[in-house]
Amino acid sequence: MNDDVAALDGTDPLARFRAEFTPPSDQIYLAGHSLGPPSAAVLARLDAVARGEWRHTLVAGWHDHDWIGAPLRLGAKIAPLIGAARDEALVADSTSVNLFKLIGALAQSQPERKIVLIERGEFPTDMHIAQGAVSLLGQGRRVVFAPPDGLADHIDDQVALVVASHVHYRDGRIRDMAALQARADAVGADFIWDVSHSVGVVDIDLAAAGARFAVGCGYKYLNGGPGAPAFLYVARARQAGLANPISGWLGAADPFAFADLHAPADGIARFQAGTPSILAMAALEASLDLLAQSTPAQRRAKCLSLQRVFLARLGDAPGLTLLGPHDEAIRGGHLAFSHPRADAVVQALAGAGLIRDHRPPDVLRFAFSPLTLTHAEAARGGELLRATLGASA
Ligand SMILES: *Cc1c(COP(=O)(O)O)cnc(C)c1O
Repeated sequence: MNDDVAALDGTDPLARFRAEFTPPSDQIYLAGHSLGPPSAAVLARLDAVARGEWRHTLVAGWHDHDWIGAPLRLGAKIAPLIGAARDEALVADSTSVNLFKLIGALAQSQPERKIVLIERGEFPTDMHIAQGAVSLLGQGRRVVFAPPDGLADHIDDQVALVVASHVHYRDGRIRDMAALQARADAVGADFIWDVSHSVGVVDIDLAAAGARFAVGCGYKYLNGGPGAPAFLYVARARQAGLANPISGWLGAADPFAFADLHAPADGIARFQAGTPSILAMAALEASLDLLAQSTPAQRRAKCLSLQRVFLARLGDAPGLTLLGPHDEAIRGGHLAFSHPRADAVVQALAGAGLIRDHRPPDVLRFAFSPLTLTHAEAARGGELLRATLGASA
């Protein structure tokens, strides 16, 4: 079995990326869905931008180093990861803020429809931002929660928009994007896809699925750093008709005209708000450049291969139940398990150097980030979990 693992690493087309990532040597890092580790390329770019560009160029850097162009430039680099055209994606703000922009814009574009539909148990910020947006917009708008797995049945002609994750943060299942999008299209409801847990690890083709709106996160599988800028996607045909409710000056047609009245920029640029964080942009951009040296098919195949190795070493571990799909075709980048004493397991794993995350009360999650891990690490992770459970059974 060790030979198998060595062979898998030996033929892994992504093996060369592992040397870019240097987690503490006593750790096996299976929490890349929560915060991706830094690559050498990211650390070098941060240093270059801080010491070189910021220190020497100062205010001229906005133009000399095209800092001002970062949101659109990085958007064009996100585009191939999500199946968008280069002028359909923008990097800015946080996922939460981008959700607010799109929920606000879309709710206002269909004022006769009052419902924002979300499945219960979604990622909290998606539900919370929707609640804040509808209470601000008023006029009878409200958030309606669909029961788990009941989203499709609740999409009807009263619904202005649906918000849903592509990969569910808790159990890791992949939703059928094309089917749900078609259901919404059939009744004239808009749909915002949150691809935070899929971008960089699961193939996403928004255009092929007919999706027109999406948001996503820069610090998970994109390895852009803690609090990395997020992104949003608006299909070209829908850009002109929407108003960004955070109508900041950088979303205006000519920010440097210093006008009193807001006239929105053409295209995706209108979804900017204020000044971008350039150090954070630099880290994310270096990471996107590294990621672009691999293909979605390579990343997906490696991720599933790592999961297989982990599961094989884990075996039938006592007390542990796989929450997510057994079917790899609908399984995202992480494996989620429940365990009646998840707390104790988490403590013991931390002591053993296996880094994972815990969603109280009873869920353990292990992520298999394709660029940052070897099969040997996935195998060791499975063994450590098995040993820990055996010891605490
Ligand atoms: C991680 C994640 C977010 C993060 O939102 P922030 O604004 O960065 O805090 C949002 N939605 C989903 C589905 C996520 O997984």
